[in-house]
Amino acid sequence: MAARCGVSYSSLLPLLSRSVVSSHGFSSKALSRPFQSLKVSAMARRGFSATQEDDFATPADLRFEPPLKIVEYPDPILRARNKRINTFDENLKKLAHEMFDVMYRTDGIGLSAPQVGINVQLMVFNPAGERGEGEEIVLVNPIVYKVSKKAVLFNEGCLSFPGIYADVERPASVKIDARDITGGRFRVNLSELPARVFQHEFDHLQGVLFFDRMTEDVLSSIRSQLKALEMKYENQTGLQSPERIDDYKRTKEVAGFGRA
Ligand SMILES: [Zn+2]
Repeated sequence: MAARCGVSYSSLLPLLSRSVVSSHGFSSKALSRPFQSLKVSAMARRGFSATQEDDFATPADLRFEPPLKIVEYPDPILRARNKRINTFDENLKKLAHEMFDVMYRTDGIGLSAPQVGINVQLMVFNPAGERGEGEEIVLVNPIVYKVSKKAVLFNEGCLSFPGIYADVERPASVKIDARDITGGRFRVNLSELPARVFQHEFDHLQGVLFFDRMTEDVLSSIRSQLKALEMKYENQTGLQSPERIDDYKRTKEVAGFGRA
């Protein structure tokens, strides 16, 4: 997610609840039972061994060359499936580090792995948007298990949509569980800006882009900018744009958050 020009997010930092975000990182606690998604995945592995290789990212899936580059809409990488991670090694730490690097360089406050061309369940964010300020948060295989009924509008940007900002409605707060960079599992409640950034990046991990959640009116307001990105992609790659906003039809509801 990109920080909107001129808006200081540092003013929002005090809103980070100290009860959930300590100065040293997310507070974590051991979980007493496996999560639904893990159970389902375990069942799938037992039942359908042919798909076993597809379950988790392989070393090849996690290979990268610094400096990372931001993948822009409409590159199909942004719509591809993102594999879960079960190897918490030096390579993963290096990838997260490189993601923070490109995020700060491009004035972002959040970044998901598919946005740098790596289709895995990994996101980084720092609502302060500056190295050495705020808190660097790395989430691996995140799951949303509860969202607030209250929804709020926020003017979002996205590093994969340079220069485009528009209002998106999302739940005001979310309860999530995830693993940290060492593989430790934790649960945390997010609200305010961290909840916003998390949900935007979480969408990326499901192949959902922020305009998928915009109202028709808001979408119309950025239509020409989306078309310009489609044209840029076609000119740069010589390929046809894999999706076109002019053909965009909301055929089904964007998947909501939850365990499903
Ligand atoms: Zn984004």
